[in-house]
Amino acid sequence: MSLVETNVLKDGSKKLAGKIAIVTGGSRGIGAEIAKTLASHGAVVVINYNNSPDAAENVVQDIANEGGKAVTCKANVSNLDEAKSLIAFTKERFGKIDILVNNAGITRDRTFKKMSEEDWKAVIDVNLNSVYHMTSSVINEMLDQKYGRIINISSIIGQAGGFGQTNYSAAKAGMIGFTKSLALETARKGITVNAICPGFIETEMVAAMPDEVLQKTVNKIPVGRLGQPQEIAEAVLFLAESEYITGQCLNVNGGLYM
Ligand code: NAP
Repeated sequence: MSLVETNVLKDGSKKLAGKIAIVTGGSRGIGAEIAKTLASHGAVVVINYNNSPDAAENVVQDIANEGGKAVTCKANVSNLDEAKSLIAFTKERFGKIDILVNNAGITRDRTFKKMSEEDWKAVIDVNLNSVYHMTSSVINEMLDQKYGRIINISSIIGQAGGFGQTNYSAAKAGMIGFTKSLALETARKGITVNAICPGFIETEMVAAMPDEVLQKTVNKIPVGRLGQPQEIAEAVLFLAESEYITGQCLNVNGGLYM
């Protein structure tokens, strides 16, 4: 019986060899798994973090232990100047950027009646304005090199809405519109722009949900369980490797929204 390694091409090289990727919010949860998966397929990964330097270093270590290459870079991507410095750091260090995964995100759940302007703005800034900050800082590079993969981690909540999540839902729906419009503008330039809409994935973000609400949610998932970060990472890899898929929203949600 022969074992076929799917991340290795016939000539022995890895599918993403030579590619440089940035994963925003790569220190924990889904982002950490995306970083590891891209690295295991040959990409050099810049792991962006904001508040969790040790967690980001652990991801680098995990990648190095598997023979991959990654570095960390601190930047609060809700701030345009910091997003620009993350792009500048990557260019200076590795010469180019091929893959941008806009993954950083937060929740500040409250019913709309109780939602403060601060709750609203924080979520729009981190989840949606960050996408503008990062993408606008890298797009000219990608246009010049006639190659780019932009993958936005949106959410089922941007499609179906979520109780107590007007801010988060607005940001995630905004990412979907952004994805489709930019995909149209860049389709002939070697750049694909896609979104992934995860359902409920087992990370600290979901662990913060009250137990009773979480159990009720799981009961509604057709597949009958929460998703795993690795299942989102595999979808990112699929889109990173594809040339003919653009402007799409890939649902990875156990059938919860169809
Ligand atoms: P998580 O475990 O809470 O991790 C969030 C990540 O975002 C952390 O690495 C965090 O980094 C980073 N981050 C937060 N604010 C940042 C900022 N201002 N600048 C840079 N990085 C920042 O969340 P997750 O569950 O992995 O979620 C990842 C993405 O998937 C988010 O966009 C989320 O909305 C989306 N999503 C998640 C689910 C789910 O069920 N978990 C479902 C749908 C969509 P630091 O700790 O270093 O600050």
